[in-house]
Amino acid sequence: MSTSLNIGEFEITTVQDHIGADRNPTEIYSEVPASAWDPYRDFALDPDGFYRSQWRGHLIRSSNGGPSVLVDTGMGPGPHEHTGKPGELLDSLGALGVSPEEIDIVVITHTHGDHIGWNVSYDGATARATFPNARYLIARADWDHYSKPENSNEAFEHSVKPLEALGALELVEGVHEIRPGVSTLPTNGHTPGHQCVLVESGGETGVVTGDLFHNVAQISEQDWCPVFDWDTTISTRSRRELLGRAERENWTVFSGHLGIDKSIGKIVSGGGKTSWHAL
Ligand SMILES: [Zn+2]
Repeated sequence: MSTSLNIGEFEITTVQDHIGADRNPTEIYSEVPASAWDPYRDFALDPDGFYRSQWRGHLIRSSNGGPSVLVDTGMGPGPHEHTGKPGELLDSLGALGVSPEEIDIVVITHTHGDHIGWNVSYDGATARATFPNARYLIARADWDHYSKPENSNEAFEHSVKPLEALGALELVEGVHEIRPGVSTLPTNGHTPGHQCVLVESGGETGVVTGDLFHNVAQISEQDWCPVFDWDTTISTRSRRELLGRAERENWTVFSGHLGIDKSIGKIVSGGGKTSWHAL
């Protein structure tokens, strides 16, 4: 299975950070009865009935040059509690021949901890941008929401807030052109400002979907929502709209959390069911 695919002039590559913790589906999808998972058990869950999320970013580069774009920065340096091991995002970038200095634009799909972890590095209490030459594009709706004291959290304070004082923060709204051929696509609901990243070139389209869905069963059951969704009515609408369009227009989908062996795919329908076809 692929970890990198071309969309016209662009190459989109998964940049692995770490294996997430095992998830109990009936806890994460608390509205979904355990028996509703039965048709999906053999491919959406592990043999023990759990599933394991992955933490990653995506690198977007063009064969014509121009800015290198990193979508999301994973869970961060760690070491992480469930494995005792550090995050690997910078090592994964290094294996692709890319140094942190070579990232020109970081775009964050949403400001949850597992998507912003490498934004900022600390020397004691002093913060610096991990990608020192990058502008960091963050949805204004997420910034406004999580900047309020009642909504803030440690991850946001640690990995997003310092970007403002570092002069690296750029707030974006609506469909925002990141570079020609690459733009944000608002798909809110998971958070107030959740956004996908759309890549269009040579008649092909790819989309990096952040947390539009977490488990492959949600491609078939598009109204299933994890407890992490901020507004499930809005997140369901965004999921349906984007996955519908991805299927109709034959987009290639780069998922945020599916296993590395099936993280890139197409949305296909047959036999009365919509499902994930890993590439
Ligand atoms: Zn996530």
